[in-house]
Amino acid sequence: MLKIDSHIHVSGDHPDCVALLDRLDIKMFNNCVASGSAMGWRAQREMYRQLAKRYAERYAWCTTIDLPDFSPDYAERVIAELEQDLAAGSLACKFWKNIGMEVRKPSGEFLMIDDPLFDPIYEYLIRVGKPALMHIAEPLACWQPLVEGNPHYGYYSQHPEWHMYTKPDHPSHAEIMAARDRVLAKHPKLRVIGAHLGSLEFDVREIAKRLDAYPNFAVDTSARVRDLAYQDPATVREFFLAYPDRILFGTDVVIRDSFAAMDPEVRQKQVQRLEETYASEMAYYEQDGPVTLRGVAYQGIGLPDRVLRKLYLDNARAWYPGIA
Ligand SMILES: [Zn+2]
Repeated sequence: MLKIDSHIHVSGDHPDCVALLDRLDIKMFNNCVASGSAMGWRAQREMYRQLAKRYAERYAWCTTIDLPDFSPDYAERVIAELEQDLAAGSLACKFWKNIGMEVRKPSGEFLMIDDPLFDPIYEYLIRVGKPALMHIAEPLACWQPLVEGNPHYGYYSQHPEWHMYTKPDHPSHAEIMAARDRVLAKHPKLRVIGAHLGSLEFDVREIAKRLDAYPNFAVDTSARVRDLAYQDPATVREFFLAYPDRILFGTDVVIRDSFAAMDPEVRQKQVQRLEETYASEMAYYEQDGPVTLRGVAYQGIGLPDRVLRKLYLDNARAWYPGIA
C-alpha cells in the first residue's frame, strides 16, 4: 500500500533515494519553510517543484509565503506568487513558527497568526480550495526549563534562540495557540493541518479538544512520535481510534542538501537514515509490543489496519486534495 509522508523536507534528487521510496512505496510531501536560512525558501521551492515534476509518483510539494514587510500591497503580492505556485503544482501553503514567536509589527508587538493582515490570504486559499499547513508555536517544552530526557532537549540545547523559557517577553504557548484557534474559528472553511500535532504534543486530550471544536482542523504527527510514545499507550491508541480521519502521518526528516550532490557514502547514510526512521516510526503505530525510537524503548499502540490506512494514505489525500 502506498504511504504518504505528509510532512518532510528532503532533496531526494538521486535514483538511490527514489529507489528507497519505490521499495517502501512512499510518497514524500515536501514543504517549504520561510526561515531565512542560507538556502532561502525559493531554492527549496525549486528543488521540490522539480522533484514532483520528475518523479510525480514519489514527490508532491507545498509552497510558503514571504513574511510581511507591512507594506500596503503585501497580501496582493503574496497571493500573486501563491497563484503561480499553485499553478506549478503546489498543493497547500505553509505558515511557520516565526509568526507568533519572532516577527514583530512596526508597533513592536509580535505578529500573530490571526492578524487581519493574513485574512485576504486565507480567503484566497478558501476560494481556490487549498489548505494551510500551519507550524505555529513549538512544543510546550520550549517554554519550560531544559530537562534531559525530554524529547525536545536536544533541539533547544542546540537552538537556544528558539528556547522561549529564556525569553519571557515573548508570547506564551497558550497565547499563540489561542491565536491559531481564532483563525480556525474565524475561517471555518479554511482547512488547516496543524504540523507537529498542532503544537499540542504534550497531551492528546488537548488535541482532541481542538478537533472537537474545529471540524476544519487536522494534525500531522511529524517529529512528534516520541511525544506520543511518552504518553500512556492506551490513551494515545484511543485518541487515534476516536479521530481516525484527522491525523496525518509525517516524519519531518530534514535533508536540505541535494542527494545528487552528496558524496556516495554520505548519500548512502542518508538513505539508510530515512529507511530507519520509517521502520521505527511505523513500528510504533503498527506494533503492540515494545518498540525503539532513537534508542529509547517505548510501547507501540498497534493500530488496526483500517486506521493505519487512513493515517498513512487516505487522510493525506483528503486534507491535501490533488496529492493522489
Ligand atoms: Zn518541518
